[in-house]
Amino acid sequence: MDIFAGIEAGGTKFVCAVGDATGKVHEQITIPTTTPEETMARVIEFYDNINKKKKLSAFGVGSFGPVDPNPNSPTYGYITSTPKPGWTDFDILGTIKKAFNLPTGFDTDVNGAALGEYKWGAAKGLDTFLYVTVGTGIGAGGMAGGKMLHGLIHPEMGHIFIPHDKEKDPFPGVCPYHGDCLEGLATGPSIIKRWGVKSALDLPADHQAWDLEASYLAYMVANYICCLSPQKIIIGGGVMKQKSLLGKIHPRVQKLLNGYINNKAITENIESFLVSPGLDQNAGICGAIALAEKAYQDR
Ligand code: ADP
Ligand code: ZN
Repeated sequence: MDIFAGIEAGGTKFVCAVGDATGKVHEQITIPTTTPEETMARVIEFYDNINKKKKLSAFGVGSFGPVDPNPNSPTYGYITSTPKPGWTDFDILGTIKKAFNLPTGFDTDVNGAALGEYKWGAAKGLDTFLYVTVGTGIGAGGMAGGKMLHGLIHPEMGHIFIPHDKEKDPFPGVCPYHGDCLEGLATGPSIIKRWGVKSALDLPADHQAWDLEASYLAYMVANYICCLSPQKIIIGGGVMKQKSLLGKIHPRVQKLLNGYINNKAITENIESFLVSPGLDQNAGICGAIALAEKAYQDR
């Protein structure tokens, strides 16, 4: 059986896993994200030990970004303009290639997770869909017409601009680039700062924070529907662990679109259209394994 290495490279932690072509994760560890040197040394040590026992076939890296996902670019596989100290213009994929000399797949963390959902989760059989995460940041990846979403660079769907009623919500937003873009208003850290709590986890299900959050995420979903015409939108991330939230978004999306996108998937069956990840918390790591498997097939 071919064994694949999948690395979910996040701004706070790296999850390194080993899995197979069925999407089964055999083992995994979590490494805190410190300096690139220290973090990557630990990543390489983990896989070195595994590679001694059972030979790895390929690596997949789904990374926080922005990244360069263009294989024809000289900086392919780099983390590029991140404000995260030490990681700007870091050649993350090259570091893995140098250490293991195996086929490698690379994409954004959210495109990776989308690929995982496509192969083994809630997006099986679809060709146009999105995977959105609402956590420390907001990001989305996915496919259009069967191809992973890339372009000039890659989508940055967290940084769209949505209506912000400053009387109702005077909070200025936390995005260092835009202030009150969607990410500035609706990401986990914005909830924490607006309501003065230690974690969004501390806000009970009936707190008004969740109605406001649902109204922002409904704008997001409505905009994505209008732009891409996805067959499904999968929404995960730490903030969505608030179980009351998803059900609050559904009717708001329908209300915003007002019957204009005249398809039963939205007008009648929105609970099956805007859904939680089929792979639950494993979408990211399974996605990285899926990137490795794809790289192995394409080698
Ligand atoms: P990351 O985006 O860094 O990968 P997560 O997707 O886990 O991390 O999101 C982290 C965010 O989710 C934090 O801002 C935290 O406050 C929020 N969060 C974590 N658990 C919950 C919960 N049960 N309910 C609501 N928000 C939560
Ligand atoms: Zn922004």
